[in-house]
Amino acid sequence: MIDCLVIGGGIIGASVAHQAASRNPGWEVHLLDPRGIGCGTTASSAGLHVPFGATTGIRSLVRDGAPVFAGYRSWVAEDTIRELRFLVVLRTTAPSAFLATMAGGAAHEPTPDDLDWLAHRYPECDLAGHEILRLDGAYRARASDLAGQLVMASPNVRFVAASVNLVRRRERQWIVEHDGGATAAGRVILAVGPWDLPALDVPMPPAAHPPGGRKRVAALHAYNAPTEADRAVYFLDDDVFLLPEPRLGYTVTSFYLDRWDQPPGNGDHVPTPSDQAAGRAVLARRVGPSFAATCAGGRAGTDLYQAQRLPAVLSLDAENSLLFAGAGSGSGVRLAPGMAARTVDRLAIA
Ligand SMILES: Cc1cc2nc3c(=O)[nH]c(=O)nc-3n(C[C@H](O)[C@H](O)[C@H](O)COP(=O)(O)OP(=O)(O)OC[C@H]3O[C@@H](n4cnc5c(N)ncnc54)[C@H](O)[C@@H]3O)c2cc1C
Repeated sequence: MIDCLVIGGGIIGASVAHQAASRNPGWEVHLLDPRGIGCGTTASSAGLHVPFGATTGIRSLVRDGAPVFAGYRSWVAEDTIRELRFLVVLRTTAPSAFLATMAGGAAHEPTPDDLDWLAHRYPECDLAGHEILRLDGAYRARASDLAGQLVMASPNVRFVAASVNLVRRRERQWIVEHDGGATAAGRVILAVGPWDLPALDVPMPPAAHPPGGRKRVAALHAYNAPTEADRAVYFLDDDVFLLPEPRLGYTVTSFYLDRWDQPPGNGDHVPTPSDQAAGRAVLARRVGPSFAATCAGGRAGTDLYQAQRLPAVLSLDAENSLLFAGAGSGSGVRLAPGMAARTVDRLAIA
């Protein structure tokens, strides 16, 4: 019997496997996913990691994950995690409310260079009635690459390319049935992102039900030739991010899509014409028509959401040996370190 089996190799499953293994070096941990590591919704992520959160629950997850994320930054490959120069654009009436949402990092007045850059970079952007803040503590993570490195850096984690069909209880162990056979495990974590859970044959009704809202998330690529001098910009009131990727020649532009009950699909990570039209409309209004016209292609996927956009770590049995970790709610990459810490805290009690 192995000690711990994680189902799903997205950023959340990979983070849980890494932490379970590094905090318990004597454990044998398996991570199962038919698609590979970081190939689900995680493959589409913009990977923005920001030090604020709209609710107490999100801020608490950000704080729990901060030391874990700092640890990753000390050893991952170059450019897997990049620190950003980060500006927030918000209404002149909003700064004190926004500052109350900070969970680490620090906010400052913008420098004259920041203001000059903003005016020249996005000349059509209407900033009347708005204020600018400069934040420390924002990063961009290449989420799929980070997931892969977390797994491969853990000598006691074994990746298995297999899909799980059924999890059932037999005495004091879990039997996980998958494409390649069956594996007995002492602890099982379900981290299947927006996909349906495998069949569960548990001896008692789950103590909690995983959330079920599936939403489409899309980001367009604006081919506006960003340079290393470019800042990332967050338009708070419009929930629009501009994330420059100078090495790739485009700016990732993220906006809110109100499209629910979306199936996760089969790894097709591209925006549809309707995603593109929705994004261009928002960007033309907020940043300017010329900028919106540079958007061509991008990335898209489905994420599992729960109320107040707060990802979930839930026990599905009384002994804390069957857990659910997921519902990234559009922020699963930045909140994965905190979720993994909480998941492994619970497993330790089992
Ligand atoms: C366009 C876009 C931009 C985004 N930008 C950001 C951002 O800037 N910052 C941020 O924090 N978040 C962002 N997100 C959200 C973030 O990507 C997700 O919250 C996160 O990737 C979810 O990770 P996950 O591990 O829960 O799911 P996934 O990455 O989907 O992983 C779940 C895995 O489970 C596997 N699986 C499913 N069923 C089974 C089974 N039966 N057996 C075995 N394996 C199974 C799947 O193959 C999949 O690989 C963005 C999302 C999108 C789509």
